[in-house]
Amino acid sequence: MRKRMIAGNWKMNETYSEGVVLARGLAKELEAGTGDVDVVVCPPAVDLKGVSEVIEQESAPFALGAQNVYWEEKGAFTGETAPGMLTNIGATHCIIGHSERRGYFGETDEDINKKAKALMAHGIVPISCCGESLEVREAGMHVEFVVEQIKADTAGLTIDDPSRYVIAYEPIWAIGTGKTATADDAQEVCGAIRKTLAEVFGQETADGIRILYGGSAKPENVAGFLEKEDVDGALVGGASLKADSFAAMVKVVM
Ligand code: PEP
Repeated sequence: MRKRMIAGNWKMNETYSEGVVLARGLAKELEAGTGDVDVVVCPPAVDLKGVSEVIEQESAPFALGAQNVYWEEKGAFTGETAPGMLTNIGATHCIIGHSERRGYFGETDEDINKKAKALMAHGIVPISCCGESLEVREAGMHVEFVVEQIKADTAGLTIDDPSRYVIAYEPIWAIGTGKTATADDAQEVCGAIRKTLAEVFGQETADGIRILYGGSAKPENVAGFLEKEDVDGALVGGASLKADSFAAMVKVVM
């Protein structure tokens, strides 16, 4: 069966020293373990090394994820980070295709597909985001829109171990707005994502891929999403910035 996952996306919050304090706080909150839940923390790039050291020093029960990557190995790509640089400092996961990167930085499905391939070639687990705008949702086209994103983002991928490829369904209108999708809204799209994955990769692989819900998830509502058949966890923004609220989300679904 699929192991649940709670991943925290700190976005562009927490300086290096603040990040170390937050990671230490989270290690303390979760010192009794996370049961059968995979926990991932995704700090800004400059905090990764510091959080990696906290994980090692405290034997913290969470993994380290980056928020972005570039697909080339090295070279003249100013400002970018290569997959090998992430593995070198202990990152095991990486968010790709977040709607903020698609929206503010013009990332395309083709870019996201290349990033997924580069990460997987380095053994890093992509947490690949998809999701529709309010406009698309109001036009009733959300399922079709997300299915097309999934097909484009996964084109040509080889998924040998489905536990090492993660999708996050994040309706854009629910991110950071306090406006959540209902658990049924999430299931409708996550179910369609799994069906699409089955068509592309076969049912067995599709059944092993975790699909997270993201969008104003918090301790009070996270369990409701995870009761749904095709929702295997949460990608958490705002509520991951406080050790107690993020840990509470883990404990609620453990
Ligand atoms: C996110 O941006 O990944 C996210 C889910 O943010 P929030 O939880 O703040 O809506």
